[in-house]
Amino acid sequence: MRRILIVGGGFAGVSAANAIAAGLSPRRRIQVQLVSDSAHFTFTPLLPAVASGSLDPASIQVPLHDALGDQVEFEMDRIETIDLSEKVAHGAFEHPWDYLIVAPGSVPSLPSDAWESSVQSFGSATDAIAIRETLIHLTQTPEHSDAPLRIVVIGGGPTGVALAAELQSFLFDELIQDSRAREAAEVLIVEQEGNLLPSLPTQMRELTERHFKAKNIQLLKGQAHSPFAGGIHVDNTRIEAQLVIWCGGVKPSPLLEQIQLPRADDGRLVVDENMRAQFGIYAVGDAAHSDCPWSAQVAIQQAQVAAHNALSDAYGRSHRTFSYSYTGDILTLGRSNAAVFYQGFAFEGKAAQTLFRVIYAAQIPTSVQKLRVLRDWMGARRGARALI
Ligand SMILES: Cc1cc2nc3c(=O)[nH]c(=O)nc-3n(C[C@H](O)[C@H](O)[C@H](O)COP(=O)(O)OP(=O)(O)OC[C@H]3O[C@@H](n4cnc5c(N)ncnc54)[C@H](O)[C@@H]3O)c2cc1C
Repeated sequence: MRRILIVGGGFAGVSAANAIAAGLSPRRRIQVQLVSDSAHFTFTPLLPAVASGSLDPASIQVPLHDALGDQVEFEMDRIETIDLSEKVAHGAFEHPWDYLIVAPGSVPSLPSDAWESSVQSFGSATDAIAIRETLIHLTQTPEHSDAPLRIVVIGGGPTGVALAAELQSFLFDELIQDSRAREAAEVLIVEQEGNLLPSLPTQMRELTERHFKAKNIQLLKGQAHSPFAGGIHVDNTRIEAQLVIWCGGVKPSPLLEQIQLPRADDGRLVVDENMRAQFGIYAVGDAAHSDCPWSAQVAIQQAQVAAHNALSDAYGRSHRTFSYSYTGDILTLGRSNAAVFYQGFAFEGKAAQTLFRVIYAAQIPTSVQKLRVLRDWMGARRGARALI
């Protein structure tokens, strides 16, 4: 029996696997296997809410066995190399393929190893939990609760903005009640381009900068460098901070360096309009080079095309080409606000927040996690303490 192998259980991998399963012909059987180094699919757009304690990590981590259709076989393994001539992916086990879709995503790109000891990365549920725990420790333990508190988020793109807004809510709506401590606490966001959200429409940027001003989230323009235990430098200024978080960018999964396929300057695999790298292998999501943003929206759309084309290879049908269809932007601005950009129009406030929640809850693949997310949010609205 022919076999389609998908490496990576994120937005791209899960979408591709389920699209293939939906397109299988009962008369021409094909085995579909997804291999990932994690047992869960993580719904990354809601990680900032996990860092701020308003969502339980389990609410946004979907077991891959549940996220994948019955016709997809899931195996947990970390792929270390991919042998193109033998058509085998090697991890702890060997995974042969006839058709391969590569979707291992990306990882935070801290500027050097030296940063790892003093700067917190933000790319996974583990990172989000570490941030939440650090903030609780910094505000709730007696030895810290009197000291002025400064949190620095490096990177004013969508992830940094969402995180800074959520952490501001966490600190000021929940963790710090004492008025002197509130005056001495701040969240600061560093952006080298000078403006927040340089890649998003101007209206989103203006609306977000207004929100940040109102909430006293400081924007510092400049280049972050030379971190030290207890802070970071921005241009010529030394900034003391209890927690510095990297949201300054991502790089492709290190797995791509182990595959003998052409890569672009950003390290991602070069693909054609069918999402195909060389040797009939498909690459999608953050692992595939394109002009599109590194986003879940793009990953899902590319995965649909690669899934169709991999099945077409097996069934001898014609290929589809990828063309990105931009549907808008949506961004949390903390526990009680969000920003939405749709069809040239940007808005914030309660309506935007409701839309944010409805859209994201709907996109979570399983009913159990959808209900958990709604339960967490409803608990917060009724005034229950967040999940600390
Ligand atoms: C904090 C954060 C917030 C974000 N917010 C948004 C947002 O609001 N909207 C948006 O559109 N995008 C957002 N993104 C970006 C979005 O998550 C990515 O663009 C998207 O996940 C890319 O999908 P992917 O499938 O390529 O990678 P991923 O979703 O990262 O999935 C890759 C999978 O491959 C697995 N894997 C990696 N290496 C291996 C290996 N060697 N062997 C086996 N498995 C492997 C990983 O464990 C992971 O499960 C955010 C990202 C982060 C980190």
